[in-house]
Amino acid sequence: MQKFEGKSLAAGAVIGKIRFYREAEYEIDEGDYDDSDAEIERFEAALEAVKAHKFALAELAEANSDSDGALVFVSHVALLEDRGLITRVENYIREMRKCAEFGVKVGFNDVADDIRSLPDPYIMRRSDDILELEKEVLEELMGASRGIYFGKDPYILAAYDLTASEVARIDRKHVQAIVLKEGNMNTHASILAKGLGIPCVIRVETLSYASDGKEAIVDGTNGFVLLQPDEETVRKYDDVMRENKAFTNSLMRLKGKMTVTKDGQEVRLYANISNPYDVSTVLENDASGIGLYRSDFLFLKDREYPSEEEQYLSYRKVVEEMNPRSVIIRTVDIGSDKSVPYLQLPDEENPALGMRAIRISLTRKDFFKTQLRAMLRASVYGNLRIVFPMITSVWEFKECKEVLAECEEELKREHTAVGTYKVGVMIETPASVIIADQLADEADFLSVGTNDLTQFTLAIDRQNPTLDRFYDPHHPAVIEQIRMTIEAGHRHGCLVLICGELAGDISLTETFMRMGVDGLSVNPQFVLPLRQRIRELDLKA
Ligand code: PEP
Ligand code: MG
Repeated sequence: MQKFEGKSLAAGAVIGKIRFYREAEYEIDEGDYDDSDAEIERFEAALEAVKAHKFALAELAEANSDSDGALVFVSHVALLEDRGLITRVENYIREMRKCAEFGVKVGFNDVADDIRSLPDPYIMRRSDDILELEKEVLEELMGASRGIYFGKDPYILAAYDLTASEVARIDRKHVQAIVLKEGNMNTHASILAKGLGIPCVIRVETLSYASDGKEAIVDGTNGFVLLQPDEETVRKYDDVMRENKAFTNSLMRLKGKMTVTKDGQEVRLYANISNPYDVSTVLENDASGIGLYRSDFLFLKDREYPSEEEQYLSYRKVVEEMNPRSVIIRTVDIGSDKSVPYLQLPDEENPALGMRAIRISLTRKDFFKTQLRAMLRASVYGNLRIVFPMITSVWEFKECKEVLAECEEELKREHTAVGTYKVGVMIETPASVIIADQLADEADFLSVGTNDLTQFTLAIDRQNPTLDRFYDPHHPAVIEQIRMTIEAGHRHGCLVLICGELAGDISLTETFMRMGVDGLSVNPQFVLPLRQRIRELDLKA
């Protein structure tokens, strides 16, 4: 038995088999394939799919007046139609009797090498495009981008690291726990992973691919992994797992009970979700509503921008299943660590301070309107609230409301029903705290995002693990800004909730209750433990 120390990201314990995920590693079969026609057909179908995707991206770029971006996609289509490239791949398939994947791998690389040997530096750069396209055609052939999937038996997912979009593509039904060699506490990838409700351990430095296929115990509570545990340890962990289950079951007695302190101060407990399928866990844990639905998930899981219809169906599912409980959907907060290649966002030196969240939405209004229209259509089915992320100025919020009104008018002209809804602002920058009175005057509610508020108040990159010592969400400057926001909100009759990770930090619950916070929004699994904590508090004592 080997013990690999790491850091706890999400509590709990499981025993299972490790499956090690390695990003974009294609194991290509080099054996002989007799049915060349079938392989060529597969290759052509994959080419067509990638081309269709490129055309759609070009159209989207055009619609957003991004003619440079559109040109890039059109030039990719031209490369994919190049007869020389296609013939090269087909020759490998037919003459060497290989599979389509082999033909693509070798054929695309040959062409990239040829281009690289040309004297013109502009043309030379096209070899990178060819290699990027090779990856996309391979993904299409091998389904690699569709999900992280290791079959139907439950498994512990191990990886060097996972991006937010990879976590969004995890096969949730079969993954029992997550173990990462790298990872960081405050990234969106970690927040999404925590939301899965399974044990997670990160920064397991000694973890390697050699663990693939081996039995292991993941102790998420204490932050370590035991590889190839002995029988006695397995027996001990069977007991731990039984106790954990008994504790979870004991919390069920709090379902239907009020979230109120001993001296009668009530607070609403909401849940944070990132996937429509999380609603059942929210209801099981008896949250008063959804305090933060991070809609980003929809935008991260596929290679394409989700259509209005796809978004509408997701939002409607959540709003309808939660009805009459309220649902706060946050407009998309992508950019920064949530990269979406199809948007072709330029590389930035400081992405957390760059083109992200509301800045993308207000810059690409067509894209923003698709999301708002989908939300408004869903509003008919329940109790919807819309919140806008990373607002730093009043004009931004006013412009969001204008676009929303424009969408509502459009829908009404189309005779499409729109329900009632409320609008709010995420308070996650010191600027928004300082102007919280003005924002509250315009909004129905404020929601404090403590993760970004900490990052921007302390000027510390929330993703940089070497700064963990300095990233202190308990810093008095952060806590004081929460108080200022609550007071400003209340001066204007606005409800104020906290939805960042700090909302579930039991050591601060009493502080927040004393500040008079109206709602706390946490992972669904934290709702009942938090209710228990609040019911034990006596603010008058
Ligand atoms: C926050 O910043 O606290 C927040 C809730 O948003 P996210 O973690 O998605 O950035
Ligand atoms: Mg945030």
